[in-house]
Amino acid sequence: MSGTEGGGRLDVLGLTFPEVTAALRPRRHEVKPLRTVYRALLRGQAPPDTARLPGPPCRVRYEEALAADVLPIVRRIEDGELTKFVQRTHDELEIESVVVPMPRTHGLWRTLCVSSQVGCARGCTFCETAQLGLLRNLTPGEIVGQVVAAQRDFQQGIRNVVFMGMGEPLDNFEHVIQAIRVMMDPSGLSLAGERITISTVGRVAGIRRLAQLGWRRLNLAVSLNAPNDEIRSQIMPNNRREPMAALRDALLAYPLRNCQFFMLEYVLIPGVNDAREHAFEVAEYLRPLKCMLNVIPYNPRRDSPWPAPTEEAVEQFLAWAREAGQGCKRRVTKGRDQMAACGQLGNRALARHR
Ligand code: SF4
Repeated sequence: MSGTEGGGRLDVLGLTFPEVTAALRPRRHEVKPLRTVYRALLRGQAPPDTARLPGPPCRVRYEEALAADVLPIVRRIEDGELTKFVQRTHDELEIESVVVPMPRTHGLWRTLCVSSQVGCARGCTFCETAQLGLLRNLTPGEIVGQVVAAQRDFQQGIRNVVFMGMGEPLDNFEHVIQAIRVMMDPSGLSLAGERITISTVGRVAGIRRLAQLGWRRLNLAVSLNAPNDEIRSQIMPNNRREPMAALRDALLAYPLRNCQFFMLEYVLIPGVNDAREHAFEVAEYLRPLKCMLNVIPYNPRRDSPWPAPTEEAVEQFLAWAREAGQGCKRRVTKGRDQMAACGQLGNRALARHR
């Protein structure tokens, strides 16, 4: 990865510190101040004191090279506790990310839900992003740039990153993995693998490639949403190519660490996958896996053929799943009014662009 933009400037947000030093080749005494500048940029801190860099011509060269290109937030939308950011790319597309507060005993953590693509090619029928189709993959710098922009806005309060925004991350494998390398770099954001989650529709080859990386701290979530292939293929076209048995085989081969489990997401859609027999069928399918079922009440997309489920229906489904022996929890619905909830990212302006 060259990591340079036209004119020789580095796409510094898409590079680890060793890659930055490989590109700039600082002398030994220049490495430390360069790292200070890099760390400040990645953490969204106040403009670093570039005066601490060695004098000209190095300083000029590094200042130019490290001028991080964080895409501007063009809209900041709040819905209760949730904040949605919209950033505009150089080719006039928009990237959406969402900050979700997570109250903890000792203060407040924030999770950032990032996008990996503009639009998505997977076509899940319940998802707003799917209505756009795929416009393009995001670069590593554009992915990391969502974290940096949120860090700036919230003054460094981002503790977790989840790839649950627009796009299927394993369809943009190389860039997502490079972005995670940058996020984990101790010289920069220094996020632990446990604080990063990739959520996939169930791309089997991608899950196997991920397993080969041996990053056992990284979390993996899978969007299941159905008790059997018949229903899953109706709402998730990808299932016709990669059915549930193949998905489970890939998960069984995935190296989990001792205390780790998969998160299996289940968007509960009235009249589609919310019956008692569905809960029991899902529990049976999941029995060989170390996993938690995360039931997500459906957040209607625009022009949705289905309503949101009632509270009673959600609680009833959870009770059935527990009766069937499946560990489960529910996701609290946030951000539905501002189309910032799970499955609701993507907007009409983007659709027109397409
Ligand atoms: S649910 Fe995920 S994989 Fe499916 S269309 Fe939406 S963004 Fe793509």
